[in-house]
Amino acid sequence: MELVITAKVKLYPDFVQKAQLIETLKAVKAGLNHASRVAYDNGFITSFKKLQKMTYSDLRQQYGLKSQMACNVCSVVAGSYASMKSNGEKTLAVYKTPKFQYSYGRDYSFTKNGMLSIGTLDKRIKLPFEIKGMKQYFDGSWNFGTATLIYKKDKFFLHIAVKKETPILEDNSVRNIVGIDFGMNFLAVSYDSAGKTNFFEGRHIKDKRAKFTKTRKSLQQTKTASSRRRLKKLGNRENRWMTDINHKVSKALVSGSIEGTLFVIEDLTGIRSQTEKVQRKDRYYSVSWAFYQLRQMLEYKALRSGSKVVVVDPKYTSQTCPKCGHTEKANRNKNTHTFTCKTCAYTSNDDRIGAMNLQRKGIEYIAEVMLSV
Ligand SMILES: [Zn+2]
Repeated sequence: MELVITAKVKLYPDFVQKAQLIETLKAVKAGLNHASRVAYDNGFITSFKKLQKMTYSDLRQQYGLKSQMACNVCSVVAGSYASMKSNGEKTLAVYKTPKFQYSYGRDYSFTKNGMLSIGTLDKRIKLPFEIKGMKQYFDGSWNFGTATLIYKKDKFFLHIAVKKETPILEDNSVRNIVGIDFGMNFLAVSYDSAGKTNFFEGRHIKDKRAKFTKTRKSLQQTKTASSRRRLKKLGNRENRWMTDINHKVSKALVSGSIEGTLFVIEDLTGIRSQTEKVQRKDRYYSVSWAFYQLRQMLEYKALRSGSKVVVVDPKYTSQTCPKCGHTEKANRNKNTHTFTCKTCAYTSNDDRIGAMNLQRKGIEYIAEVMLSV
């Protein structure tokens, strides 16, 4: 499987280079909006070739774009209109940020003495860059793909898509199975093949989440332009915070397990069965994008470490006894956070039960695969 990661490098242009980069971004943005206007005014053009025919010479002469940049602008705009058309939208696309894809080799490359060489309107320029925290992607084993130039708060960054062909862990090479249950009191609980349980504390997250909700509610009541702005800012801050938590949790889960681990998680994106209603508001992952993001982070981090993730149906994972298999709602006491099996009397913390049952589902998954071979 091809592993694709965005390597973010900070650029250090000098005074002149900075002006060249800004000028390039401005021209690309103006070119995008020009091509967008043409596409919109001429019956919603979604064909790259048609748009290129109509705008190429303007993009070159009026906007000063290099040949490659002009083509790229046409492809971005045609792509935007094609996806709008398939969504049934018929509006003018406005580009607030210049979306330009630099191709490796053609638009950017790295020199032998460790500089970044990148194309501008004038010519290619060479400038220093920093790879702090991104060193691993420059060890020669990764391929560089397209890159995006970002200008933010007076700083320049190049976001490079780096790729590597990575073998997927074979089912018959699994050496450890870890069940991971996501909750709220504990953000995650994991249980591995050696019988070891790990609790990832979640109470401070629950508190912070409640604070976000409270602020949001009060802002929603004040229906002014400023409250709407603040609401949007609050939403962005909450999203960044959740992304950060997902990074930390996925990193801790993967780095805490050996190579060859099968991580078993429940599919929280669907609706749970009626027999086992979990109050979604009590869960950190009540927002489906957050769980989807965590799953993706876990998947690529696992892949990078020679492990993998399997997603299973969460049915009965909190009611089944992991020792004897007896399933009954009364096994679990939510108030005391304890699980006591009505048949065999096995007792444990209720958050741990979910992880144990998921680990067991992982064992069953491997067994089924082995039998079907
Ligand atoms: Zn039991």
